[in-house]
Amino acid sequence: MSLAHLLLRRALQLPERTAVFHGTQPHASHAMWAARSAGVAQRMREAGLQPGDRIVLFMYNHPRYLELLWGAWWAGLVVVPVNAKLHPREVEWIVDNAQARWAFVTADIAAQPLAGLAQQVDIESAEADALLAPVPDARAVPISERAPDDLAWLFYTSGTTGRPKGVMITQRNLMTMGLSYFVDVDAVSPGDAIVYAAPMSHGAGLYAIPHLMAGARHVVPSSGGVDPAELFALGARLGPLSTFAAPTIVKRLVDHAEQAGLGPHDAARSFKTIVYGGAPMYGADIERALRVMGPRFVQIYGQGETPMVATALSRAQLADASHPRHAARIASVGVAQTPVRIRIADGQGRDLPTGEIGEVLVKGDSVMAGYWRNPEATAAAIRDGWLFTGDVGCLDADGFLTLKDRSKDLIISGGSNIYPREVEEVLLTLPGVAEAAVIGAPDAEWGEVVVAFVVAHAGAAITPEALDAHCLAQMARFKRPKRYELVAELPKNNYGKVLKTALRERLTPPRPTA
Ligand code: AMP
Repeated sequence: MSLAHLLLRRALQLPERTAVFHGTQPHASHAMWAARSAGVAQRMREAGLQPGDRIVLFMYNHPRYLELLWGAWWAGLVVVPVNAKLHPREVEWIVDNAQARWAFVTADIAAQPLAGLAQQVDIESAEADALLAPVPDARAVPISERAPDDLAWLFYTSGTTGRPKGVMITQRNLMTMGLSYFVDVDAVSPGDAIVYAAPMSHGAGLYAIPHLMAGARHVVPSSGGVDPAELFALGARLGPLSTFAAPTIVKRLVDHAEQAGLGPHDAARSFKTIVYGGAPMYGADIERALRVMGPRFVQIYGQGETPMVATALSRAQLADASHPRHAARIASVGVAQTPVRIRIADGQGRDLPTGEIGEVLVKGDSVMAGYWRNPEATAAAIRDGWLFTGDVGCLDADGFLTLKDRSKDLIISGGSNIYPREVEEVLLTLPGVAEAAVIGAPDAEWGEVVVAFVVAHAGAAITPEALDAHCLAQMARFKRPKRYELVAELPKNNYGKVLKTALRERLTPPRPTA
């Protein structure tokens, strides 16, 4: 069984149905998608690519992403999805590390040839048209047999600490992720549609798998990215859409709805389900999102090493405001998804009692096979089959997981642990604060001190004094920031995650020149 069989099946069962849209324009039926994917698979085989070889996809969201992804799987290849915002030199490092043979790119981000490749194809060129030309009968192109442990997706971590590592994701990992979507996230039927607003090189793109399993439609916005007005309009045209959105994207959708005077009824016409995750969603933000857009949210927690699958907080749990522990639950990331177990452990991997804070460990069929050509990193990350996520959190008696922070983001000041997220949650409750990120700065006396970076809403007059008074009224004195930096925006990566390393660098005094 290969992920490519999912496409062939849909092509046989729902051949004429439009499966892929570019904006509101039909791009391909299931039959056409399969015929193009089979076509590119056949031509890559003829050019000498063998099952297990790696190909890079370095492009903005585009309908051809789906055709190339399934074409690669049809030929038994491993896809290396690359963040479209990486610098070409960083991509060359990945090409070299992955020993990738081919890359499909868009000319806007890869105008020059990348070193180390046998072939680089601009997906909007005549060459790509020829490679993707549909074959007359997709069934005539054999799908390469794949074992469950064979690699399907080699995902490079963002590498905020050191060089990125290639996360080896297998056919089984992705099949598991796809199936658990229906149990833990949302039911999907052929009348539904997913829209790719967040980068397809990340989890948002992987959600193509459950939607193809269910025979649903796939919509790639013509802007190729996140434009809230476009997304609302697309939803109104093509039926309520499901999407994966990082918390920053959710925020932009909610801001847009508020500014345009749209309420839950309008949101329901445009969006069926908004799955959020990938970074902390603050309590104040999800409450506002639910108020403005209604009960159409589901949270997931996962990481590249267990893609999209660790925990989920369901629509019903988010909406159940009458539950006595509702406030704690919506601040959690929910309960273990069906295929995995979660536990909290100390540094040696020993279980900690309920409620105690420690490292989050995950075990199950969604967990990666290891890091590509990096046995030391693999041995450190997976012990006795348990993935050490590097996230810190605690479980309550009902199995709800609350994340504190990445272990490396924890601040230790005067010997006390301070979780930046707690401080951020408080800062965000001050009216006029749009975004907040808290880090530790080295300090001779305390070891580290808390520093807050704050972005104000347009027109809001926020001062360090007002922030400090607010914090003093809401939290233990030792957790209170010693410094407030008012900034126009926070540095973020392509997936909308705040880059705390970049903030830390801003605080590091420049080295004296020799
Ligand atoms: P990545 O491997 O780039 O997907 O990053 C995964 C990391 O993002 C996790 O290890 C968490 O630190 C964070 N993360 C993912 N989902 C959530 C969530 N729902 N809430 C808070 N943090 C999250």
